[in-house]
Amino acid sequence: MKDMTNELPDGRLFVGGVWEEGHGAPITSVFSHDGSENMTFNGASREDGERAIARAKAAQADPAWRDMLPHERAKILHRIADGIEANIPRISRLQSRDTGKTLTETAALAASAVGTFRYFAAVLETSDDALTTRRGGFLTASVHEPIGVVGAITPWNSPIASDAQKLAPALAAGNAVVLKPSSWSPLVALELARIVDEAGLPKGLLSVLPGAGREIGNLIVEHADIGRIAFTGGTDTGRRLGEQAGRKLMPISLELGGKSPTIVFEDADQDLAVAGILFGIFSSSGQSCIAGSRLFVQRSIYDVFVAKLVEATKALRVGDPFADGTQVAPLINHEHREAVEAYIEGARGEGGEILCGGKRLSGAEYDKGAYLEPTIIAGLPNDAKTCREEIFGPVLVVLPFDTEEDVIAQGNDNEYGLACGIWTRDFPRAWRVGGAIRAGTVWINTYKQFSISTPFGGDGASGIGREKGREGLRVWQRQKGIYCDLTGQPHPWAGVTR
Ligand code: NAD
Repeated sequence: MKDMTNELPDGRLFVGGVWEEGHGAPITSVFSHDGSENMTFNGASREDGERAIARAKAAQADPAWRDMLPHERAKILHRIADGIEANIPRISRLQSRDTGKTLTETAALAASAVGTFRYFAAVLETSDDALTTRRGGFLTASVHEPIGVVGAITPWNSPIASDAQKLAPALAAGNAVVLKPSSWSPLVALELARIVDEAGLPKGLLSVLPGAGREIGNLIVEHADIGRIAFTGGTDTGRRLGEQAGRKLMPISLELGGKSPTIVFEDADQDLAVAGILFGIFSSSGQSCIAGSRLFVQRSIYDVFVAKLVEATKALRVGDPFADGTQVAPLINHEHREAVEAYIEGARGEGGEILCGGKRLSGAEYDKGAYLEPTIIAGLPNDAKTCREEIFGPVLVVLPFDTEEDVIAQGNDNEYGLACGIWTRDFPRAWRVGGAIRAGTVWINTYKQFSISTPFGGDGASGIGREKGREGLRVWQRQKGIYCDLTGQPHPWAGVTR
């Protein structure tokens, strides 16, 4: 465990490019390894939010930014990437304190944020507007313009990566961004603001406003000067925000929860599958939207495979996020652990059999922390609450299946549609099943792998819209058609002669 008192932010918020004390309710960041307080500071008030949006509006309208040439704007994005890259160890320590995730995980998230800024700098420089095919005596073009001031609302589980996924394309597109990170892990976004500020982004174009969802999040969604929202978070919150955006006729993208099926066919390479499944559900202690939390194993190998999986799960190293070799760290906080435990209790009530885990860890290293054993539950039908709902913790349910048709039906019998994992040596079958499962992302013989160039998002209760990929820039722009007369002649309809 690392004492990093000197590395914490100073508690001020980034309000439209100005570092100011917040005037909202206090926010406390806690290190969930031992329950100690990282720091307490004031979150943003409604007035802080109003001020940030007004400054953002002025900064975005300034031709110095609005009309900045793409390669000049790309330089700023590269400087932000450089700043994150130079600070990866510090950012990952901060994020591990803030979220309880292992240093390996948080370093990977910071590195992915670097890649995201560089990628959108490249996309910006290489995305062309179009001269469209002429159908008359005019030149026609389709061009893209910034939306104006936009909002980003992010959850607590992977702060710097999900923040970058919104900020990088939104800034590349020429907008000003008001970011509201989660109150459970607010520190990394403030660190990111410091880096962005030092990189020379013109003042006002970024605000980072930790604060209550109902107050600051709501202000950003409802405010007349906000023209688009990208939200990542829970499905219930997403539904509410979608309704609010609909009333305003404002575009919104929603990256929401999941209950992703992972499918192991009898011909699978079992060692490969065990390793991928463990990583898919127990890394980040299962607090991942794409966690492979519903495992289907073909009946002919069910007993042997599940026994292997349980044995490997029991061998996972659970412990201090700062210790070398830790695979499973504590949950984000004690309150969330209770919510996950309630699901495990519920599974018992539904008649589920706990094959391993299910309890808090005990002993000096664990007693004060929000630790929970990696847990595998069997014996429940696919329509049990444990199999239907997102638990967002280190909890895997396993179910048997008989045929390809059977597993496609069971896999799709769930309101979510975020991700899917398929383990088989039969590639045509993997392709068929991957096509038939409702999911925004399908992994074949691997799991939880990402590339910034591949669009990501969910279907059904897992959300609307996609982030990442080349098109990830366009969602932050308005498209405009322009017609320019080439004839020099008055329109014949008017009967004007000359
Ligand atoms: P959450 O919905 O509680 O909060 C997400 C964000 O929304 C936070 O910043 C919160 O303060 C804000 N918020 C809450 N209520 C609001 C309101 N009424 N108006 C405006 N903003 C509001 O989610 P969480 O608990 O922080 O995150 C966990 C959830 O996020 C899980 O369901 C997980 O699956 C999902 N998630 C999805 C993805 C994805 O890409 N699909 C990625 C990570 C996490």
